[in-house]
Amino acid sequence: RILQVAFKVNPVWYPASSFSSSSMPTVKLFIDGKFVESKSDKWIDIHNPATNEVIGRVPQSTKAEMDAAVAACKRAFPTWADTSILSRQQVLLRYQQLIKENLKEIARLITLEQGKTLADAEGDVFRGLQVVEHACSVTSLMMGETMPSITKDMDLYSYRLPLGVCAGIAPFNFPAMIPLWMFPMAMVCGNTFLMKPSERVPGATMLLAKLLQDSGAPDGTLNIIHGQHEAVNFICDHPDIKAISFVGSNQAGEYIFERGSRHGKRVQANMGAKNHGVVMPDANKENTLNQLVGAAFGAAGQRCMALSTAILVGEAKKWLPELVDRAKKLRVNAGDQPGADLGPLITPQAKERVCNLIDSGTKEGASIILDGRKIKVKGYENGNFVGPTIISNVKPNMTCYKEEIFGPVLVVLETETLDEAIKIVNDNPYGNGTAIFTTNGATARKYSHLVDVGQVGVNVPIPVPLPMFSFTGSRSSFRGDTNFYGKQGIQFYTQLKTITSQWKEEDATLSSPAVVMPT
Ligand code: NAD
Repeated sequence: RILQVAFKVNPVWYPASSFSSSSMPTVKLFIDGKFVESKSDKWIDIHNPATNEVIGRVPQSTKAEMDAAVAACKRAFPTWADTSILSRQQVLLRYQQLIKENLKEIARLITLEQGKTLADAEGDVFRGLQVVEHACSVTSLMMGETMPSITKDMDLYSYRLPLGVCAGIAPFNFPAMIPLWMFPMAMVCGNTFLMKPSERVPGATMLLAKLLQDSGAPDGTLNIIHGQHEAVNFICDHPDIKAISFVGSNQAGEYIFERGSRHGKRVQANMGAKNHGVVMPDANKENTLNQLVGAAFGAAGQRCMALSTAILVGEAKKWLPELVDRAKKLRVNAGDQPGADLGPLITPQAKERVCNLIDSGTKEGASIILDGRKIKVKGYENGNFVGPTIISNVKPNMTCYKEEIFGPVLVVLETETLDEAIKIVNDNPYGNGTAIFTTNGATARKYSHLVDVGQVGVNVPIPVPLPMFSFTGSRSSFRGDTNFYGKQGIQFYTQLKTITSQWKEEDATLSSPAVVMPT
């Protein structure tokens, strides 16, 4: 059944020729406009997280294949950079239409490989699509600046120009959205791109590459390699790669930032998180509890913007039993099953890690007031499921507070005042997202101003900015100086050239050499 779904989903990723009982479907490389089988002898199994059945294999690309992919990017660059900005925009305009037409196909593939519910997978594609739509406004975004008559007959102006070959390294949790933060922004600016999707969920990227090709992107402008550490090191070290966009864990991101920067590349790295939802006693209780539960447990907590920590201020601590009641009602099931609210975790190892972190709460004196560890999902007994879990009486020195859990686990702290809550949030090393729930404007304003976090929601639990702004996580959640997408994304993928130009009337010729510094 799974293979049938897989085959129906995407013939690029599961080509008919390799679809037989004896051969496992293989993910192709995308080099110079062709989907090609890797010659690698090292392959990684891809699992359906709801069953743990192997559904395909992805290669660890060979050095020769990775070199060929960068060479294709490099060859394609001069022509693509010189292609008129209106033509590049047209490719993106066709692309956004094709993504819309194929949204459900991409979502089905995401659910198969990643496990999230189909509705959530559609949201994953949709949020990436918004970035593509925004990239279509490149004609305004890439404008330089001008200043006429800085002195007699002299004008000053700047161009925004592409960098060359850029690369992207993506995580498993948003198989469509995050690659779409990367290559469309880079390519619309005139760069060519080498993409390395997460080895656990490569399918959506492959289909997105096919759709980009169908939109008219010339051969070699986007290339895809697969793999883990070797592929990452290759990207960090290759002299022809000018910039790297990374999204994933701190362990990988800090390493890539350091290694890529050492080799003279621009690197932007969005990393881990511990997002706090501060609940004031004057908040709209019904809305707040529903939003908190949705944002803590949606996508099984595997979102970098999951609201994984609640701070109940003052009387709001009395709402805890109702929070538990709402969380209990969520339906845990395979992502393609009707009515599922949350699906499985990505791997058995991820499940084990989440369960260990829940255990640590008990050992360190917290209370597990809702325990999802023993959940059994009928028909999917081998899946990596953990049900909604709530840990209360949590203190900032506990492991379950300090670590990013990345599972359907909400840790709950209590404070008497807003100031204490702000201190906890600011003492935490991560600065990705946070939200405050209140009906008092002054409280909301104070929180938004004092909290040292990149993305703040006021009665909005997952404040991921729309792409005309940028994704602005800060502190340990980000390395680099220009963020993803929006104007900052355009800055990341371009460099300025400034031209000082003088056109004198014929009779204004210099009569002797100007040896003094021009002022
Ligand atoms: P991950 O770091 O394990 O993997 C991300 C990418 O890095 C993958 O392509 C992987 O192949 C590669 N990689 C993994 N370990 C590596 C290593 N040691 N050296 C070099 N490369 C390595 O992350 P993940 O588990 O796929 O994703 C979950 C993490 O991503 C969470 O921490 C989450 O918060 C974070 N995330 C952050 C954002 C954000 O915008 N801040 C968005 C999504 C996910």
